[in-house]
Amino acid sequence: MTHSNLRWRFVGRPCLDFAMTGGRGEWARFERLSRPADLRDWFAQGPLQLRDVCVDADELRAACDLREAIQRIAFALLARQRPAPEHVAVINTFAAAPPLVRALDPTTQMLQITRPVRVEALLSELARDALALAADPDARDRVRQCESPDCALLFFDDSRPGKRRWCSPGRCGDRARARAYRARKASR
Ligand SMILES: [Zn+2]
Repeated sequence: MTHSNLRWRFVGRPCLDFAMTGGRGEWARFERLSRPADLRDWFAQGPLQLRDVCVDADELRAACDLREAIQRIAFALLARQRPAPEHVAVINTFAAAPPLVRALDPTTQMLQITRPVRVEALLSELARDALALAADPDARDRVRQCESPDCALLFFDDSRPGKRRWCSPGRCGDRARARAYRARKASR
């Protein structure tokens, strides 16, 4: 599933989507989680559409620590390298917190997330997703970096042939094809 709005991009793998919301150092210029309200918005717009999560400053800091560790691990997977133990340790710690609780609604026969939802549980889910990615040899070979020069987001290639080149075929794929078309025309 791929969807995005002006602020966030959700291109199919929660831990990677989360890892691409900014960061420290060279990633600071992409920072989108500056305030607790930003993280709240990410949870609201994300795949789970949780609109009633309260986030405080400490939780935002914790989220950014987790995000940095996921980023480091994702880039290691992209380079076919073993992730550094200190980053794995951070993710293991977050994953050890209790995850979301889901209960079956007897009327709708659908799973409902039990309220209230704690940020710790959401970070645990993201950490577990990252661990599952790193532990699955087939999945970790499908971590890619978007080939669009003005994007460079990491994404998970869930296409059957595993040859996806852009984080989102609509956005970066269309732009890349338009660029290639212009380049062909100019070279004639
Ligand atoms: Zn892209």
